[in-house]
Amino acid sequence: MMDSSQVSANSGILYVVATPIGNLADLSPRAVEVLGSVDRVAAEDTRHSGKLMQYCSIQTPMLALHEHNERERAPRLVEDMLKGWSIALISDAGTPLISDPGFNLVRLAREAGVQVVPIPGPSALICALSVSGLPTDRFVFEGFLPAKSSARRNRLEQLCGETRSLVFFESSHRIVDCLQDCQVVFGARRQAVVARELTKQFETIHSDTLEKLAQWVSDDPNQQKGEIVLLVQGQAETESHQVTPEAERILLVLLEELPIKKAAKLAARITGVNKRALYERALRLKEA
Ligand code: SAM
Repeated sequence: MMDSSQVSANSGILYVVATPIGNLADLSPRAVEVLGSVDRVAAEDTRHSGKLMQYCSIQTPMLALHEHNERERAPRLVEDMLKGWSIALISDAGTPLISDPGFNLVRLAREAGVQVVPIPGPSALICALSVSGLPTDRFVFEGFLPAKSSARRNRLEQLCGETRSLVFFESSHRIVDCLQDCQVVFGARRQAVVARELTKQFETIHSDTLEKLAQWVSDDPNQQKGEIVLLVQGQAETESHQVTPEAERILLVLLEELPIKKAAKLAARITGVNKRALYERALRLKEA
């Protein structure tokens, strides 16, 4: 991978430009300047981004770069940049590459010695995290969870003992099911936040326990519309390793029917207690 001292002298620049996630006034003056001065704007959806370009009275020609053509198109764009073109990469909203296309292009451009310059700005991830009230010093961004419930639960289970704040993108038609699954895996009392329609007219930022949040969203169809970031507090470090009397009782019942590993895994899912701690307790209970 090239560093900035290895850039090719005659090549153009690839600008990775963040655009608004709802409120057009969030487009930075620097982004406007770059979009207006490059040779081409590579957009995820040229029709969608055409409106933003029109809003800024920018006439730079656009080309489409999306998940279906990126692999094939990126090498050609890198060749164009090596010949001197500068390109601005934008996505439909927010920061490109954050659950959006652009990875192949940035990777290839850097490998070829094309200078890659960030033009920072909005991202739903940081926007939601900054107002969530959850710890922000350490967090995990998980992007979109799998659409199917079984796969989603599997992914959530892998995150069960995670102590950092968790951030997910979620679609409005899956938010109810997703909150249900979070409740089952992380426990009803875990704190969480739904950040919906950020920077837009119906912006809503609502925090509660997973149990109450799931109920609130499922009772109000308006909360099942628009764009959503879901944030879940990480597991408290002390809490997660303490096998509570209730957790031990559940573990004992499960051990009557299941092998140790499975019983510990299920007990962790039900109680939110660390799986390893439960496994070790199960071993001792069996020995006794
Ligand atoms: N690259 C974008 C970014 O940096 O914000 C994210 C693109 S991803 C394909 C789209 C997802 O981001 C949405 O499904 C939603 O989860 C989240 N999102 C985008 N805009 C949002 C908004 N205004 N309010 C809440 N979530 C938003």
